[in-house]
Amino acid sequence: MSDKLVYFFGAGKADGSADMKALLGGKGAGLAEMTNLGIPVPPGFTISTEVCTRFYRDGGYPPNLRAEVEQAIARVEQIIGSRLGDGASPLLVSVRSGARASMPGMMDTILNLGLSERTVQALAESTRNPRFAWDSYRRFVQMYGSVVMGAPRGRMEEMLHERKRAAGVKLDTELGEKDLRALVTDLKAFVAERAEKPFPEDAAEQLWGAVGAVFRSWMNPRAITYRQLYGIPDHWGTAVNVQAMVFGNAGDDCATGVAFTRDPQTGENRLFGEFLVNAQGEDVVAGIRTPQPLAEMERLLPEAYRQLMGIRARLEQRYCDMQDIEFTVHRGRLWMLQTRTGKRSARAMVRIAVEMARDGLIDQDTAVLRVEPDKVQELFFPEVEPCPASEAIATGLAASAGAGVGRAVFTADDARAWVDRGEKVVLVREETSPDDLHGMKAAEGILTARGGLTSHAAVVARGMGKCCVVGAGSIEVDSLRGEFRVGDKTVRRGDWISVCGKHGRLFLGKRTVQTPELPGEFHTLMEWADQRARMAVRTNADTPEDARVARRFGAQGIGLCRTEHMFFNPERILAVREMLLAEDEPERRAALAKILPMQRGDFVEIFRIMDGLPVTIRLLDPPLHEFLPKTDKDIDELLRVTGAEPARLRRRNEDLHEANPMLGHRGCRIGLTYPEIYQVQVRAIIEAACELQSQRVKVIPEIMIPLVAHEEELKRMRELCISEAERVFAERGVTVPYTVGTMIELPRACLVADRIAMHADFFSFGTNDLTQTAFGLSRDDAGRFLPFYVEKGVFSRDPFVAIDVDGLGQLMRIAVEKGRAHRADLKVGICGEHGGEPSSVGFCHGLGLDYVSCSPFRVPVARLAAAHAALLEKRGAETGSV
Ligand code: ADP
Ligand code: MG
Ligand code: MG
Repeated sequence: MSDKLVYFFGAGKADGSADMKALLGGKGAGLAEMTNLGIPVPPGFTISTEVCTRFYRDGGYPPNLRAEVEQAIARVEQIIGSRLGDGASPLLVSVRSGARASMPGMMDTILNLGLSERTVQALAESTRNPRFAWDSYRRFVQMYGSVVMGAPRGRMEEMLHERKRAAGVKLDTELGEKDLRALVTDLKAFVAERAEKPFPEDAAEQLWGAVGAVFRSWMNPRAITYRQLYGIPDHWGTAVNVQAMVFGNAGDDCATGVAFTRDPQTGENRLFGEFLVNAQGEDVVAGIRTPQPLAEMERLLPEAYRQLMGIRARLEQRYCDMQDIEFTVHRGRLWMLQTRTGKRSARAMVRIAVEMARDGLIDQDTAVLRVEPDKVQELFFPEVEPCPASEAIATGLAASAGAGVGRAVFTADDARAWVDRGEKVVLVREETSPDDLHGMKAAEGILTARGGLTSHAAVVARGMGKCCVVGAGSIEVDSLRGEFRVGDKTVRRGDWISVCGKHGRLFLGKRTVQTPELPGEFHTLMEWADQRARMAVRTNADTPEDARVARRFGAQGIGLCRTEHMFFNPERILAVREMLLAEDEPERRAALAKILPMQRGDFVEIFRIMDGLPVTIRLLDPPLHEFLPKTDKDIDELLRVTGAEPARLRRRNEDLHEANPMLGHRGCRIGLTYPEIYQVQVRAIIEAACELQSQRVKVIPEIMIPLVAHEEELKRMRELCISEAERVFAERGVTVPYTVGTMIELPRACLVADRIAMHADFFSFGTNDLTQTAFGLSRDDAGRFLPFYVEKGVFSRDPFVAIDVDGLGQLMRIAVEKGRAHRADLKVGICGEHGGEPSSVGFCHGLGLDYVSCSPFRVPVARLAAAHAALLEKRGAETGSV
């Protein structure tokens, strides 16, 4: 660690540079880098983050800090030609905090430090602009008074307003010198009274007061909370930047502004921003006056505008990324005050990355890495458009993007029932719980009055890719009466409402929804990603519709086609019940014969859509009882078709009831006890494949056996599959290549994967069940305590969202190693929901998996994540790190 504490910038060559963010903070590093690029930056210096760390460790400043600061001030004074606290020509400075990562919660910037009763006179004289001098002093007293001396900000703002009212003016800029003088006197008296000490007149005292306040702000509660939320360690510390003032408020040839080097919303390659003439600091964003678009600046301050365009180009050349900049024009001359990498929408992220690569600013690898996988999903969400804040009747937290337009319903059962009869609904709850899942699934959107961004509603909705607004505190939900109130409005069950998950807004009535057009660069970027990924990305698709959507999103096959929904269909469920409650095998077969053609039809369609791509079909998995009749009506219906004896049917129905269905009669256990069911499914798959092959459609069926724990289970199921397939081939006189493999979703299966591999052509990790069984934790019940675990940090992440690398990851590693030890060409994939979560995709890449499979709308996310994993591995190898 260097002994140097203070780093100069602003003229010639700076002591620091862009790559010294850790030591100088983002702001300090940016100011240093701009200096080195020859961009005009008011001179100043950065007190390093190291000083902050030592301040907290040792309970005070390092001994040589004072001397280094004095030296740096002397250097600034020399460049500017004025001195801090000088009665004739005073130097004024700003004091700005600046951590490594931009961090709300830190101290606000103090401008015009160095002003006092004495120096304000000098400033008035030297500028021949007393109004400007007193306005600057007024701003300083307000900022220093609140930030350093702790006087309430609101009251001081009121004092300003009272003064304006008394003077009969509207704008700050219309207050004259006399009023400003009087206001300063009042403000200082107010601050002194509140702080119980006089407002400092000495510039050096002011400076050290401000520096101390910056360091102290690192440990204020807001900053601490923010750091906890974003995992920023306390020991990073903040830097302090002290910088000579330039004045945007010294007349009409002065201005202050903020800009992005490209449009942060669309990504368009043009300077984008706003400025205000005769204004200082954050007036632009403070909403005091309406700022003007930068295009106006070309007309009003042409020379400064031309400079700004030049600087824009230079910054992009240097940073090779879009920059977010702050500047001030002082007497027609442009000064840069900040540059940092700009935040942007998903749309802009994609467009900027591709355009910069095309222009040779970055390479294609970098372009792919520039786009955050999770972010691309935003491109596909429908939006409430237009979405004016002024018309929203309530606002909450934007928990999951999208648009939810439908009739308000207040219970999950209502949601389900209304949707079943063809309505669109928005589920409105105080809060949601796992009992609401079926309603959440059915609804277009979810709105809750309570809960934060990690509440049940938020987490589940994000997982479903469904529009969700949580914590809309101003609505009062009365689910018993089926209504909610907001202000003087009441929304009753059945009324139309619109929820915008992007901005967290609620509207009355039916608003228009638009699916944004994909930016043209999206396909280019995804092509680059696919060229770089090693793993394939498949989709979990149960229906032809899912399969179609997923193909549009670039899925390279189906990794999981669940067959249960094919049974839940109202027409078929009767046949299924008939089959389950059948007396004997012939009866069972008769019932199954009704199901076969329907199943075959499903597969024909899916195979056709996936033309030439692999399709993994999982044989029936869920607990039997899910299919059983539940109500008397269900039973009556069944009695009518079967003509069975009522008492006996009821008894059999009760017999099939399970205490713990998740660990009960499901998966291959069904296949073993009721082989006819799996036989029919295999027959449907193989017949469909034969049919399409004869139409010259290429089919690659992969039959997957669920919930295997023991090799004997798979061995028998494999024999069943093969003999049924052979029968079909013999009947039809054709053969189609197919494979038989298994889900790996039980810990035991991982541990004996070598034995299981003897009977498997492929493995597919079912990480949902594997997580449930590894943790002994039912996902359906976890909603009651898992959010607590995550919130309190017992678990750092929800293991159903991101693969638990330490535990589950080991099981997976054992399974891959053992499986491939037996059979080197064993194809291994993952089909749990983790297959679309970027960090989990990265982990699967590291394990050497062949593919990941995820829900259709997560496919682009997974494609990018797979490319990232490959690129990061390559870069790691290049730099020699692991
Ligand atoms: P933030 O971290 O909130 O962006 P900054 O330290 O960038 O805070 O300060 C806010 C604003 O104050 C800047 O955008 C700039 O307009 C103004 N400012 C800061 N330092 C100076 C200075 N030396 N001269 C003129 N204006 C300044
Ligand atoms: Mg700030
Ligand atoms: Mg700033």
